[in-house]
Amino acid sequence: MARVRIRDLLSGGVVGTRYRVCGWVRTRRDSKGGFSFIELNDGSCMENLQLIADTQIENYEGTVLKLQSGCSLEVEGVLQPSPGKGQRVELKIEALHVFGWADPEQYPLQKKRHSFEFLRTIAHLRPRTNTFGAVARLRNAVSHAIHTFFQERGFLYIHTPIITGSDCEGAGDLFHVTTFDLDSVPVKEGRVDFSEDFFGQPANLTVSGQLEAEIYALALGDVYTFGPTFRAENSNTSRHLAEFWMVEPEMAFCDLDGDMDLAVEFLQYLFRQVLEYCRSDLEFFNRFIDQSVIGTLETLVSQDFERLSYTEAVEILSKSGENFEFPVAWGTDLQSEHERYLCEKTFKKPVILTDYPKTIKPFYMKLNPDGKTVRAMDVLVPKIGEIIGGSQREDDYDTLLERLVESGLHIDDYWWYLDLRRFGSAPHAGFGLGFERLVQFITGMGNIRDVIPFPRTPGNLSF
Ligand code: ATP
Ligand code: MN
Repeated sequence: MARVRIRDLLSGGVVGTRYRVCGWVRTRRDSKGGFSFIELNDGSCMENLQLIADTQIENYEGTVLKLQSGCSLEVEGVLQPSPGKGQRVELKIEALHVFGWADPEQYPLQKKRHSFEFLRTIAHLRPRTNTFGAVARLRNAVSHAIHTFFQERGFLYIHTPIITGSDCEGAGDLFHVTTFDLDSVPVKEGRVDFSEDFFGQPANLTVSGQLEAEIYALALGDVYTFGPTFRAENSNTSRHLAEFWMVEPEMAFCDLDGDMDLAVEFLQYLFRQVLEYCRSDLEFFNRFIDQSVIGTLETLVSQDFERLSYTEAVEILSKSGENFEFPVAWGTDLQSEHERYLCEKTFKKPVILTDYPKTIKPFYMKLNPDGKTVRAMDVLVPKIGEIIGGSQREDDYDTLLERLVESGLHIDDYWWYLDLRRFGSAPHAGFGLGFERLVQFITGMGNIRDVIPFPRTPGNLSF
């Protein structure tokens, strides 16, 4: 008999029909009348299936009465209406097979609530909890929705490289990739001789697929990448990972306004999808993690985001009278406390800031006529701050060259990037959405380490 998933059984199971179900026991409760209730979960949805087992089952005492949280089971039984509260149907077991026991003396997941800190130390078992099951299902649904959004709009999915020779932003924070034996690295004239290394030059893990996406946008129009991204920033915050996933659309014949319009349409689409397809997982987050998540998403699907310039934002922050940890002045980068103030206190909604000083943004952003600011945009949301960073790209050859020199970068490394401005250059724009920050926002989860299956952070590489 084919195995049916609990999700399908709960939504479409026919009473009176026999089914085979597999999963892991969450709890067992025995009744004096010689039968037991077992809550079974198979990960297909938040809800458990209630199983009823009685003495008709062969070896009821030796198996059913020994079942504990964490055991894996296969059962066959008939679906029947449930007289009890909390579920429409339950499965009356006729046959039961235990695949694997879980010794309650040693199994770390017990019925009580565990702290997220503790669960991080058992990342091999935490997906069996309600929270991490819900996070995994939500990540899956949002990934699917991301592809659907772009595919429906004719964007091509481009697979940009993970190993690169260029540092996208010239900003450092790179993980180096090498096959050198680090105990005896070849040296020439006092410096590491990378000509002997695998690629014959220094190599690193990508910090962004943008530059390569630009190549394809300037040939195919609208493209996107969605892949892992690596940053060796030593920041132990609740919003930074060393390995995270980024969605990066890049559009030819598009300016900053078009870029912002797409970002808003994109986020609203994703919010609508999760509200429709992840209802019970969202209800869980809304109940146990953050009681505002559903309300916030429902508001945002129809509410436009506030748009203003960096300069206007700095004015608002300077006049706010708020005692910030980091002082605000025109020309300094905004910290998340500032970003959050604008979203949570000033506007009470997501905010898009534009036209940042060129000194705090990468070389590739298009210079404004004022010569001081660039066509950048950051999308900021309550509780987190920045979730999207984007810009219109510099499409003028001479200006780009100047900006590269100003930024102290080696022009030779960017010959191909400059070429795109020599041959058929066109206005184009794009952005990067941090996937885990988005998942944090949707779920209300406080720490980014708890919205990715296996977080990589400074000093942490378990699992
Ligand atoms: P921040 O200032 O918050 O460190 P950033 O300006 O360095 O971010 P970008 O280079 O603009 O980030 O990257 C685009 C998006 O990628 C960000 O808006 C954010 O959502 C996400 N992101 C950046 N760094 C990280 C990180 N270390 N961990 C998780 N997500 C990140
Ligand atoms: Mn940014």
